[in-house]
Amino acid sequence: MSSIKGNLEKINEIIADTALSCGRKPEDVLLIAVTKKKNTATVMEAIQSGARHFGENYIQEAVSKIDTIGKENACWHFIGHLQSNKAAIAVKYFEYIHTVDSFKLAKEINRQAKAIHKIQKILIQVNISNEKTKSGAEAEKTVELIKQINTFENISLQGLMCMPPYFEQPEQARGFFKALLLIRNDIMAHQFSNVSVNHLSMGMSNDFRIAIEEGSTMVRIGTSIFGERN
Ligand SMILES: *Cc1c(COP(=O)(O)O)cnc(C)c1O
Repeated sequence: MSSIKGNLEKINEIIADTALSCGRKPEDVLLIAVTKKKNTATVMEAIQSGARHFGENYIQEAVSKIDTIGKENACWHFIGHLQSNKAAIAVKYFEYIHTVDSFKLAKEINRQAKAIHKIQKILIQVNISNEKTKSGAEAEKTVELIKQINTFENISLQGLMCMPPYFEQPEQARGFFKALLLIRNDIMAHQFSNVSVNHLSMGMSNDFRIAIEEGSTMVRIGTSIFGERN
C-alpha cells in the first residue's frame, strides 16, 4: 500500500472517530487534501487512493494541475491568498474559494462569475487571531461584509474559514475555532435571506481533531497525507 493511501485511511479514521466522539456524523466533515507544492502525479495517486477534494494555494501552480487532471474526478478548492486580478482564473478553475476577505474581491468574483454564467461558491476568511500579517476579514466586520456580499447574484456564500496561528500544543487553537463558530452563530441569528453559512473550514494537520470538536465541516490537510513540503 502506498504511503498516501495509508495516510488517507489513517486520517479518515481519525476524522470519523473524532466526529463520533463528540456526537457528530463522520460524513459531515469533508477532508480536503492540500496539494500545494505537490506534483500532478502525487495528486493522481491521491485520487486513486480515494481522495476527491483538493486544496491549492497558488493559482499558476493549480491551473496546470487542473488542466491535466480535470474536474470529473476531483473537486478543487482555492485556499490561498487571492488578489482581485486573479479572480477570473480562480472562478474559472475552482468549485470553492475559501479566502474571500474583502468587498472588493467579492465584487470582482461576482463580476467574473457572471461573465461565465457561474454561481461561485465562496467562504469568508476571517482573521480570527487578529494578526496584522495575516489575511482575512476582521472578525467585527464579518457580519457587515456578509450583508454586502448577500446582494451579489453570482456568489453563493457557503460558510467561514480561518487559520489560527501554529501552536505546538493544538489545544491552544481551540479558542480560535470556538470564536469562528460564534461568528457563524451570530450571522445565522441575523437570518439574512439567501445566506447559508453551514460550512466551517478549519483545522489542518496539527489541529484538525480540535477543529472537528468545535464544529469544523471542512478540514484542510497537507503534511499528514503527503509529508513535509520543500
Ligand atoms: C498549507 C495549508 C494547509 C495544510 O497545512 P498542513 O499543516 O500541511 O496540513 C491548510 N490550509 C491552508 C490555508 C494552507 O495554506
